[in-house]
Amino acid sequence: MVILMLSKYVKKEYGKKLEKCSDKEIYYALLKMTSEMGAEKESNNGKKKLYYISAEFLIGKLLGNNMINLGIYDEVKQELQDVGKNIEDIEEIENEPSLGNGGLGRLAACFLDSIATLGLPGDGIGLNYHCGLFHQVFKKRLQREIPDVWLTKKSCLIDMNKYYTVKFADFKVKAHMYDILITGYNNRTNRLHLFDLDSVKESLISKKIDFDKTNIKKNLTLFLYPDDSDDEGRLLRVYQQYFMVSAGAKLILDEAKERGSNLRDLADYVAIQINDTHPSMVIPELIRLLMKEGIEFDEAAKIVTEVCAYTNHTILAEALEKWPIHFIERVAPQLLPIIRRLDQLVKEKYDNEEVAIIDANDTIHMARMDIHYSHSVNGVAYLHTEILKNNELKDFYKLYPEKFNNKTNGITFRRWLIHCNPELTRLITDKIGEGFKSDADELEKLLKYVDNEKFLTKLLKIKKRKKVELAMYLQEKQGVYVNSKSIFDIQSKRLHEYKRQQLNALYAIHKYLEIKSGNIPKTPITMFFGAKAAPAYTIAKDIIHLILCLQKLIEKDEEVGKYFRVIMVENYNVTLAEKMIPACDISEQISLASKEASGTGNMKFMLNGAVTLGTDDGANVEIHELVGDENIYIFGEKSDVVIKRYEDGSYCSKDYYDKDPDLKRAVDFIVSKKMLKIGKKKCLERLYNELLTKDWFMTFPDYSEFVAKKEEAYRDYENRQDWAKKMLVNIAKAGFFSSDRTIKQYNEDIWRLYE
Ligand SMILES: *Cc1c(COP(=O)(O)O)cnc(C)c1O
Repeated sequence: MVILMLSKYVKKEYGKKLEKCSDKEIYYALLKMTSEMGAEKESNNGKKKLYYISAEFLIGKLLGNNMINLGIYDEVKQELQDVGKNIEDIEEIENEPSLGNGGLGRLAACFLDSIATLGLPGDGIGLNYHCGLFHQVFKKRLQREIPDVWLTKKSCLIDMNKYYTVKFADFKVKAHMYDILITGYNNRTNRLHLFDLDSVKESLISKKIDFDKTNIKKNLTLFLYPDDSDDEGRLLRVYQQYFMVSAGAKLILDEAKERGSNLRDLADYVAIQINDTHPSMVIPELIRLLMKEGIEFDEAAKIVTEVCAYTNHTILAEALEKWPIHFIERVAPQLLPIIRRLDQLVKEKYDNEEVAIIDANDTIHMARMDIHYSHSVNGVAYLHTEILKNNELKDFYKLYPEKFNNKTNGITFRRWLIHCNPELTRLITDKIGEGFKSDADELEKLLKYVDNEKFLTKLLKIKKRKKVELAMYLQEKQGVYVNSKSIFDIQSKRLHEYKRQQLNALYAIHKYLEIKSGNIPKTPITMFFGAKAAPAYTIAKDIIHLILCLQKLIEKDEEVGKYFRVIMVENYNVTLAEKMIPACDISEQISLASKEASGTGNMKFMLNGAVTLGTDDGANVEIHELVGDENIYIFGEKSDVVIKRYEDGSYCSKDYYDKDPDLKRAVDFIVSKKMLKIGKKKCLERLYNELLTKDWFMTFPDYSEFVAKKEEAYRDYENRQDWAKKMLVNIAKAGFFSSDRTIKQYNEDIWRLYE
């Protein structure tokens, strides 16, 4: 037990007492203190080391998490409390690092936490985007993007004063390495290496998030995924990717040599996990570097295949990256001969256009290169991997059945339970001890309280408290009124048509009209949305507009507003997620079956005692299996039906609209007089037409079942004890979704560290 540690530290740092320090001073002292404590836990043991390469790491604020992992959170909290300070105010000061979009980047962050927690030697490699993803604001009920400048002078970044030269076609740059310490829970510290370029200038930003996309020296690490709706943006993305993997590959080889590798035995020293296709160029880059060290092409390709493993995150065809050959020629011509030889080998072996790396249009398919030249290909949930094997990648599965494997995603319980929900953590600890913190399966011990009224009442009380906290937070930060006594029905995730926020919005219209005609809900309802849309994704922004118009319409409507609200929170990010998820009653996971690879939001909600309303998609399938029919609300067409519909091209949304008057009423309302008074005609009409003439993600066939299931869930909510049982079963069964379990499986099946 470390008592009065912070006061002593502050005394040494500033020469004054803790109570005399400002919150900011305390924040900086804690930043420094946790960093020193973290650094003491670094270790060089283990011959083989993992590198998790990812264009995104959505790590969230670090201070609170680091204090938990170092085991000092409660003591520091107490020390601060004793001098009248609040630990949450201190944590608020930190800017959230803006280094990811959504699920894929958040997964990478959870994985780093678990790798360190399991004591495995494994570092992350990524990019240090100055402005990250944009900061979302709403103006006139439209999404506006402004730069999210998250970097401050003093931050979690450590300047390593280490540079790697990266050669582009016409010029060279120096990749500057910064590290973030990743301290595991009661275990070792690893590192996240982020590369940056000193010449990058924030002054290049002209207005909002626009900037000169051709000035690579000044813009390379300015933003995460600059708008790729045009060729310049797409080319910049390739520059970023090559910059990341070229510097990363050099770092990896240097470290391997230091550990004693002669490079021919690289696979005994290094495992590389390629997170989606953004880092795929690491394969030809490593081959190139090995050849420079005197290794023949064939052997180099073999070595790299043994080192690399690829994770697929999506079956959406438009998300599988492919680059025109001339892009690579422009950015890294030195890779082209290698990619051509890799493609040649494939073409010699397999007479099938569908598996060629370079197609007849001179386009390079990154995922195909990954599959041929990695030893492992994994999907991220059971259903997703099955679809990869049997549909999307079936030609590849026939060639390499032994490469394919599933690794169902997970989340770190340190952030998504212990940090975001200390009250629930305490209740669980009181009953079953601390064991679940390192062995998540122990949560099942909670099942013996399923008929314990006192326990269930406590569970409800905690949920109530988290709802009040969220209501107060949103009132203060975003100026919206939230009725904390209402049912909290939440859909928060990136905005994408396949995730079907539009389906949930149609329900909101339905509910509004029902209440208008006198069908008043027993308990008031608040539907929350949180989502950013990609800046160039027009329909996604129209959906946000629709939701914001509904929010306005309903809050102005005194009759309805008493019973029902729609709230779209601004700038959904990890910080907000940590406040919303513990407060949720109903977790909306309503993607079109077959389209959501896994989802991880679904796991976070479940762990915090929300009950899922969802389709049989992604990891929902596994949640369903674990909690059973009584503790989840499943609706909608199954993935095989959906896949068939796409194959035969038979779907016609208008047929459903014509047949179902309730659906018609909801859809027509989008362009009703009431809505046009509040919203922009162009946006609302565009969305209306999109749904009526296309509805590519098939919301209409699932509409009536969705409405019915949601009503059923709202009805069940009224029986508080029964509802609390459902909450309990969800929490108790969430152990499987610990990223510690996922990482153990990656290590046993793919990386094989510590053999
Ligand atoms: C977990 C998380 C996501 C992923 O949510 P899904 O529902 O799995 O898409 C996205 N954004 C943030 C901020 C998250 O914390």
